[in-house]
Formats: sequence, structure tokens, C-alpha cells
Amino acid sequence: MSRALGFLIQKVRPWRHEAASTVPGRYIPWLALVAAAGSVCVAWLHHAGLPPERGQATVGPAWDYVVCIDPGHPTATSSGRAVYNGVSELDVNWGVALKLGALLSKDKRIRVVWTRESRDQPMENSERAKVANEAHADLSVHLHCDVGPSRGFTVYFPDRQGTVAGKTGPAEEVLRASREAAHALRNGMARILRGVVKDRGIRTDCVTRVGHLNGSLTTSIFSEVPTVTVEMVFLSDRHDARFIKTRQGQERMARAIVNGVTAYLRSTSQTARRLADAASDL
Ligand SMILES: [Zn+2]
Repeated sequence: MSRALGFLIQKVRPWRHEAASTVPGRYIPWLALVAAAGSVCVAWLHHAGLPPERGQATVGPAWDYVVCIDPGHPTATSSGRAVYNGVSELDVNWGVALKLGALLSKDKRIRVVWTRESRDQPMENSERAKVANEAHADLSVHLHCDVGPSRGFTVYFPDRQGTVAGKTGPAEEVLRASREAAHALRNGMARILRGVVKDRGIRTDCVTRVGHLNGSLTTSIFSEVPTVTVEMVFLSDRHDARFIKTRQGQERMARAIVNGVTAYLRSTSQTARRLADAASDL
């Protein structure tokens, strides 16, 4: 044991001498202190859930997946500030988005990009899709809350092309992948929200008011990457509102969405592996 220790010390010493030759020894503890303080600040910012600059990564360069988070409002037509049962959609979307980003970023294989930098920054729906497209996201998740005579969560996806502002889309492969993502999201969310938030299943964009008019939601039409819209709860429902306005409720919702997102990402890598295996067998 002591021999092994001696060997290690010998191995370490030359490095220590090298460091001492370029930086005077008495400064080394101070430099270490400054570096440690820097990392604590970065960690604090990260855990505070602050979004990074638009389109920027929250973690280092070695990611396998890119996930785009879009806190749905304000849009050109809706601020999201209307209050139902003491809570607004703007606040819920932003609160869950921050928690979702922080949770996803814990997985070093995932790079998180945001459609915008601050809660109140208005943005066209087509712009939201463009951020995800430019980041080559593996999945774009648009967070919303519903209002109406129902309760529970619903995952929407485009099942056909639509047209708006002269743009027709999305492409067939985006439709296919978005359907798979919607299934994964719904199943993953249902497991975490069982008994707490009602599962309303998956629905196509075209049953929404805008989708009915244009064929799909605007973010879907402009999307070149798999895209889903999660209507997390009905704010008009007292039970749903009571759940989602608490920190614990928003954390649970974020965990539910992470469960679905990671299930989808896993399934895409399995598909890629199967395709690679099939190609190598040819
Ligand atoms: Zn909304």
C-alpha cells in the first residue's frame, strides 16, 4: 500500500513543480479560491433555472440531443396574462419551462435551447419554430394551458400539412416523428401525473381552433423538427389551477414532461441504431 502511495506521489510531484514554475506557489491557493467561487456562481445560476441566451446551450459541447423549450406566450395575438382561479397562463408556462430546462440540463447528453430569454418577451409563433429549426432540435416542446369546460392535460401534434402566411408544412417525416413524440410524451406524463391530473390523451392540431382553420398549428407548419404542444392543465378548472399554481405542482408537471421527452429521445436513438444495424447487414 505504502509503495503504491509513494509511486503516486512521485507521479504527482513533477506536475506540481511544473505548475509552481509558471505560477508563484503563494498565489495557487488564491487562484483555486477564485476558480471555486466562479463555479459556485455558475452552479447557482444554473439551479436558479435562469434561461440562457436564446439558442444557446446550458451544458457543455458533448451532447447527443437538442431539446427546444417554448414557454408558449406572449404571442402576437395573446399575452397569456388573463387570470383564472388566481393564476395566469404566462406565469405557469414560464414556471414550468424553467423547471423543465433545469431538469433536462442535468442530463449532460441533452442540450437545452430556449425560444426566448425572458418571460414577457413577445414572439410570433413562426419565430418559435425557427429557433428550434436553427438549433436542429430533436424535439420542440411548446408549453400551454387550456381554458374551457374540461380538466387535465392533452398533447397535440400535427397529423397533416397546413398553410399559413404563404407557408405550407411541416414535411412528412416531421409529421411522423411528431406523432411518435406525442405518444411518448403522453405515456411518460401519464405515469407521473396519475391520480393528480387527468389524462386527456393525444389529439391532432387540426381539432384546435387555429388548426381547424389552417390545417395545423402555426408552430407546427413552420417546424422542420419534431414538434408537440402540451396543454398542461385547464386553468378554468379549480382543481387543475390549484395544482399548477404551486411550486410542487409545477415541479411535478416538469418531471412528467421530462419523463416523456427522455422516453422519446431514447426511442429515436434505438431507431437510429436499428437503421444503422440494418444498413451494416446489407
Ligand atoms: Zn396558450
